[in-house]
Amino acid sequence: MVVVNTAQPPADHDPSSFYRTAEPRPDWTVWREGPLMVLSKGVAFPMCCVKCGAPAQRTVRTKLMWHNPWLYLLAAFPGVLVYAIVATLVSQRAELDVPVCELHRVRRLKAIWAALAILVVSVVGPLAYMSTFTARDGDPVGVACALVPLGGLIALIVAIVGARLVVPTFIDGRVVKLKGAGEAFLAKCPPMV
Ligand SMILES: [Zn+2]
Repeated sequence: MVVVNTAQPPADHDPSSFYRTAEPRPDWTVWREGPLMVLSKGVAFPMCCVKCGAPAQRTVRTKLMWHNPWLYLLAAFPGVLVYAIVATLVSQRAELDVPVCELHRVRRLKAIWAALAILVVSVVGPLAYMSTFTARDGDPVGVACALVPLGGLIALIVAIVGARLVVPTFIDGRVVKLKGAGEAFLAKCPPMV
């Protein structure tokens, strides 16, 4: 008769089963590798904010993609289109529910709203500016064409920096490695040695 110890996580969900280094922790699913979080695909985070380690009330569904950084060379040669096709085909994917406390959830939402506001202003502003021009003032389209992409770029940077909770540094069929965790969260994680 086979006895299954249900107190232990399944072998596939336990990083120690393939790293053979960290001690199994059924109560804690994330390991630490320097500044990185390491967890098995398919396991849930412990409900602590990844930024400050405080008890988390909510999670943010996060879809991640990762490929070998050498693939970026394809964007230089043969080109961005080939890179995009290859990257889509070979990228490893993971979907995580990342826990955050109320403070960091609100901070993230504010960054998203700020990015949207910058985007709207960068489109509406040049249009309003153009409407004040008369034919004698010359062609205002060039000004608008310069300002709209600039505003869009700033909005994108604000959204990425403010809204992104974790960034994958490695994903394969079993493991996800992430940066972006705060030291207070990492301090709770047993180290990968
Ligand atoms: Zn927090």
